[in-house]
Amino acid sequence: MYDKDNVFAKIIRGEIPSKKVVENEYAMSFYDVNPMCEKHVLVVPRGEYENILDFARRASAAEQAGFWDCFVKTADKLGINGEFNVFANAGMSAPLFNQSVFHFHLHLIAGDKTDACMDMIKCFLCEK
Ligand code: AMP
Repeated sequence: MYDKDNVFAKIIRGEIPSKKVVENEYAMSFYDVNPMCEKHVLVVPRGEYENILDFARRASAAEQAGFWDCFVKTADKLGINGEFNVFANAGMSAPLFNQSVFHFHLHLIAGDKTDACMDMIKCFLCEK
């Protein structure tokens, strides 16, 4: 069940601060506090959706359009064109990376890798 007190719900309600990139009626984007690369932004719908499947199944056409508009404008604002990664984690036991915040978000990542990213890659290669 969706937890209304998750950290992204609080950001959306303006209860905790975030470094916003783009916002519209249905979605917003803000910088990840623990960036994997020079540009690491999270794009979230304002509606209460736990993960990407939940959003794809239940969000209205207007919410989905608003979300993708926010995604495109975020990429444009960050100057991202051809070289980037996008991912969404779902669940506490996903095969590669677990979801830690249970409000649907896309990670949009570009630019040079941070040290945290390099450490994570090394760790991942050791464990798999
Ligand atoms: P995930 O593990 O896919 O659920 O991703 C959650 C992401 O949210 C992680 O990359 C965290 O670094 C990021 N995060 C957690 N709290 C905040 C916050 N207050 N502001 C921005 N990003 C956050």
